[in-house]
Amino acid sequence: MSASILVTQKLSELLDDQHYWGSYVLYGESIPHLLHWDWAYLWILDRQSTIPPEWQARVEAWRRLLCMLLLGELELEARAIEQPLLSYTEKAGFNHLVFARAPLYPGFPIGVLSPTVLVRPLPEPNRFEISSEKLAEQLPRHYSPPPNMGDRRAELLQSLDLVKVAIRDSGSQLSATLLRLIERYLPATEFPRINSFYPVTPLPNKASLVAKADASAWEDLRYVNITIFVPQRRVPPPKQFVPKCQGCGALLTYAKAESAVDAAVNISLRCRACEAITPFEYSDFGIWKHGNTFFIWRELEQLEGLGHHAIPPSPVVSNDEVCFSWNPALLGGEEVRAHVRLRFPQHQIRAIGISEIKYNMLLIPGDLTEGFNGLPVRPEWMFAVDQLPEVEIVNDVITFRNSKLHGLRHTVLLGRYPRAACRIAPDFQVGIFPTPLYEGWRRYRFFWSGDKSDEYRGCVVPDRGQPAVEKRQSVDIAEWDDGLPDALAIEAKSQAGMPASIGATWLLQKPRAADVSQPIYVGVDFGTTSSVVYAESQDGRPVVLELRDFARTAKILSGNGEPRTTFLPRTDEAAAAGFDPTLIPSALWFAPGGEFNPIRWSRRGPTKAHSARYGFKWGNQDELLRRQYLDELLFLVLPTALNKLFPGSAVKGNWNIGFAFPLAFSGSQRKEYAKLFTELRQGMDRYSSAPVDLKSISESHACVRAFGEHLHGSVFLIADLGGGSLDVALFETMSSPDGRPVTHHFQVGSAKIGGEAFVSALAHGMGADDEARQRHYWNIRYAIMTGRVAQDFPGSNFGNVATRFLPIAQELLRIMVEAFRAAIPDRNVDLVLVGNGWRIAEFTAATPLAQSIGRRELEESFQEFEVPNLSMYAGELEVPIKHVVALGALKNARPGGRNEIEEPHEAKMPSGRDLKLRNTGGTIRWCDLVGSAVRNLPIGTTAGHIEIHRASGPRAPARWLQRLDYAVPALDSNPTDAYVRDHFDIPGERLEKGPLQIILEKRAAGVS
Ligand SMILES: [Zn+2]
Repeated sequence: MSASILVTQKLSELLDDQHYWGSYVLYGESIPHLLHWDWAYLWILDRQSTIPPEWQARVEAWRRLLCMLLLGELELEARAIEQPLLSYTEKAGFNHLVFARAPLYPGFPIGVLSPTVLVRPLPEPNRFEISSEKLAEQLPRHYSPPPNMGDRRAELLQSLDLVKVAIRDSGSQLSATLLRLIERYLPATEFPRINSFYPVTPLPNKASLVAKADASAWEDLRYVNITIFVPQRRVPPPKQFVPKCQGCGALLTYAKAESAVDAAVNISLRCRACEAITPFEYSDFGIWKHGNTFFIWRELEQLEGLGHHAIPPSPVVSNDEVCFSWNPALLGGEEVRAHVRLRFPQHQIRAIGISEIKYNMLLIPGDLTEGFNGLPVRPEWMFAVDQLPEVEIVNDVITFRNSKLHGLRHTVLLGRYPRAACRIAPDFQVGIFPTPLYEGWRRYRFFWSGDKSDEYRGCVVPDRGQPAVEKRQSVDIAEWDDGLPDALAIEAKSQAGMPASIGATWLLQKPRAADVSQPIYVGVDFGTTSSVVYAESQDGRPVVLELRDFARTAKILSGNGEPRTTFLPRTDEAAAAGFDPTLIPSALWFAPGGEFNPIRWSRRGPTKAHSARYGFKWGNQDELLRRQYLDELLFLVLPTALNKLFPGSAVKGNWNIGFAFPLAFSGSQRKEYAKLFTELRQGMDRYSSAPVDLKSISESHACVRAFGEHLHGSVFLIADLGGGSLDVALFETMSSPDGRPVTHHFQVGSAKIGGEAFVSALAHGMGADDEARQRHYWNIRYAIMTGRVAQDFPGSNFGNVATRFLPIAQELLRIMVEAFRAAIPDRNVDLVLVGNGWRIAEFTAATPLAQSIGRRELEESFQEFEVPNLSMYAGELEVPIKHVVALGALKNARPGGRNEIEEPHEAKMPSGRDLKLRNTGGTIRWCDLVGSAVRNLPIGTTAGHIEIHRASGPRAPARWLQRLDYAVPALDSNPTDAYVRDHFDIPGERLEKGPLQIILEKRAAGVS
């Protein structure tokens, strides 16, 4: 092999003329770190078919040495490497060898730890005259013990399991090969597998493995270390409990043929010598009762911590009887009367092993650190634990001490899990939303995420004093609406009927009880594209709920980082993508067969099968989607608001939720929303165990409320351009005689002119089919929201569509102002533009404008109305303009707020065009108001009686006319009068919508 050449070269480099290498004392066993024997063993062992005859004994010696190593039968001794070899080895961070000794060969080593095959015999020949032939014959054959030898295969199997995990997780490139060799030479399937766990202890010396197995190992030798755990032999045999008479001290054991003692009520044993009755505790026999069942511990001898206490012998259970039998040696040689049989008539009895109540392998999300607070107890056995263990982590071994189990008098060591008996899953995370709230809060959601989260299940322990457990097979989320349970377990799914072998259980700490209720005010602006939620702080300030507030309201039970689950936003991702942290997408994810539909927080779906549903605020068919979305939103919002306002306390919320809805909602839409609000309120009542007050206000009125009532004497036109509607209010605030502010609405209304139409028009223009359009729709929205249009859609012409869309909305405002002027000529009107829809102004140029420039150009375009007493409102708003509706909803949530969804529709907007009534000859002028709040049609009027004068209305100044003509040419004929008349809605004496609004809505919907 080239290794020896390399060694020669390196040695020649490090030696000089004065130091002839032949003068050093070099023994064969001194140089195994030079790897050639190690590589030779690896290479030979990996020969499938032919092992050279001279190697057969070496292979057998290796096999026996490995078993001894894994059973702790080798004594290890680290010895420093001396010069000149150290100069070479220490470059690789290797300055000692670990020799292995065995009692059979006192005084000298028989092997060394090997970085390729774990352990191997010394090179041959060696000065100790230990040959592989001798070792192959004389070392114990643990893998297949002869009859005269103790069988330690069960321990060996456990050690093999542990060392395989350690090798697998080591990161060494050799791992796969080495695991294959171990499996070939020590086939675990041939070992008896028992359902118990031996206490283990780490070997004093770590074993090293080469990190890289390719050619670079020769140039740049690196090692990784693994810890080998071996079963602890020599655990002192436990003392045994023997029942004795309290009167005379005689043994209270009986012959098997004697009748069993009825122990259903208590255990009392009669002395045959003095007739005295001696009472015993159930726990003397390791027995405890739950419900109608008596449980009897077995495997007690495996428990640590009971060493000083007497334990009963292993029980044998049959039917309703348990029999304890003592070794005659403990009874002074008594061979016949060596039993106690206890009967439990009318009861169930069950023998239970200590190992059955624990996971074989402990699931550790994140890393094994002091912060780990999981327990190894299977959830269905939490009720067997009387006192929870203390957790201690030392040298990568996690130990659960001082636990008290029912049926045992003394505290015990419940388990000891070395790193190799843990499944450490760095990217795994277990959490609960919300972080436990006040006692009456009933709805919680558990999540577990990470690689292969679908291979795990969540198990809820409602009451850890009871064995009942609810196991959920869902992929990564479990809903729970029965109050905070006592514990949650996450375990690897097992085959039906089999207990899970990997998992951990977390106790859920209830917050300190606080008997305080606080009114919590929340305002929700449920928008067509996104929603905004405000809450009111203790000192009365409005605070917006941000994405990170939702994430912070979850509690991570185990694992690292912020919550990673589909139903909560990822604030790091959102920030990186440039998302506005105050906007909650009004969209849901759906997957075929999915049981759960989270809010669409990010661009990418939880899986490829997920698709987004959105735009469900208005549609007649979307009732279910609205309900799902708002239910989900409120479930996130309530705890988040509470947690933000009263962090870490157990304050109980008295909920006051304010919603805003568009005034444009029709009567039937209002009815449906009123029903929806009632159902949402009932749902919240249930899971918050608190009365929930729900109020509603139209978006137009919400703007007015948010705007403040302090600006007495000015007239404002608030125009909120959202995704689905343009909500407008032209009003003034005055003081009533008793000093309260009173709002007087001149005009108020809502038109179905929304930013969604703009985005849809763009998506429609780009995509050839529905699927492509939907993809474009999201990409466009995303680009607009994050200011990435220029990057994501280079060369695209959003400008054309924007320039055709905005004037539609603006024309409605112009008619409103002109109509107001016609009635009251000399008042100034301050225009306030709110809502995200106005951001479309950023796209009126070929390259998207900066937000502020787009805004300024938009504001300047209103000058083209040439209305002298119209100006842009220059004052400050309490919150950003996109939050105004949510703030208004919040203010309306306070006592005295309205529930407008149940009030009649009350729009009043200018007709916009002159209408001639053929039935009476009367006229409704363009500046007259129409709408649900205005009765100005003669009884019996139908659409057919109404003649529309399309050329009427306020004159458009030349510059505005030019812009309007480009955006919506042929306003005087498109759509037709017939279309407009078809869309007149005349309940009784009212015209719900004027002709101009119908025309503009039609043109907005068809913008392209
Ligand atoms: Zn007695």
